[in-house]
Amino acid sequence: MLSAGALLTLDLDAVRANYRLLRQRAGAATCGAVLKADAYGLGAAAVAPALRREGCDTFFVAHLAEGTALRGILGPGVTIIVMHGLFPGTEAEALRHDLVPVVNSTEQLRDWAAFARAQGRPLPAWLQIDTGMARFGFSEGELEAAIAEARDLGSLALRCVMSHLACADTPAHPANARQLAEFHRLRRKLPPLPTSLAASSGIFLGPDWHGDTVRPGVALYGVAPTEGQPNPLRPVLRLDAKVVQLREVAAGTPVGYGHTAVTARPSRLATVAVGYADGFLRSASGRGVVRFRGLDLPILGRVSMDSLVVDATVLPPGAMRAGDTVALIGEGNDLDRVGRAAGTIGYEILTSLGHRYHRRTL
Ligand code: PLP
Repeated sequence: MLSAGALLTLDLDAVRANYRLLRQRAGAATCGAVLKADAYGLGAAAVAPALRREGCDTFFVAHLAEGTALRGILGPGVTIIVMHGLFPGTEAEALRHDLVPVVNSTEQLRDWAAFARAQGRPLPAWLQIDTGMARFGFSEGELEAAIAEARDLGSLALRCVMSHLACADTPAHPANARQLAEFHRLRRKLPPLPTSLAASSGIFLGPDWHGDTVRPGVALYGVAPTEGQPNPLRPVLRLDAKVVQLREVAAGTPVGYGHTAVTARPSRLATVAVGYADGFLRSASGRGVVRFRGLDLPILGRVSMDSLVVDATVLPPGAMRAGDTVALIGEGNDLDRVGRAAGTIGYEILTSLGHRYHRRTL
């Protein structure tokens, strides 16, 4: 099955099923899709058309270049929102590709509004307000100044007012209610506009957080939206790699770079053809597991650039052979579990996977 050492399999049916579930949870709100970072590393060229077939017509990216690439994939007829907004001098490119920037700051508002005036017509924009994350968006003072000045806001066709939740994956976190209240308090300073507040985890906080458009990203890709709760989403990804070599070693055998692991008993070791150059994080050294026929095989010692070693002693002799395939992601090793083992989150596992793998799409 594998001609190279490792194979990444993307299940587009699962992505579509996750979208349908999110759309159902979003109720009356429009369910968009966040495809920044090349659809979180999975490949926007495959993911975007699949979501489009489900009826999704509102897409979010971080950067202008991601927006132009997505327009090339999807063509006209869908809304593409550039969440970071525009840097000066890039307005014409955004217009050419019919992209809608978020204006996050006084400077971004001024520049996009000036460009709109030069075009002789109001150009579309979303406006972001900071409700308690201190990352993107207008502060209250900046918002009031923009409203008082009026000219720049008046030069744009504002389509939506948005904000982003900092702690939505922890439903009991008091910041969620605080941000919601702040969002409504600040947005009421503006003329009535559609709203957008929830990303993946915000959708699961309930309808109060939905507003008019929700912006799920990671949940499309199967990562649990809420900490400590059962995950209602389907896994979309598996990463398989081949066993290159097996060896029987004595107790007391040091394994891998730095000899950070030493076998405690006579052991059967398997060398697997995937490493940190494949985006399998080195921080999983000595902590993660791979799956083989329903069993966990622990990663022993350090993850190398192109390989890692697992402890296969639990298997009966002959049960594993060179050329067999183990699952690094999938087969019960979901992205959250892999993330925890590497001391990080499923998001980082996904977006680190890179392009070295042979890829296939189901
Ligand atoms: N909206 C904004 C503004 C974001 O920055 C992100 C991602 O970081 C998302 C939506 C999607 O978030 P998630 O992947 O948690 O659904």
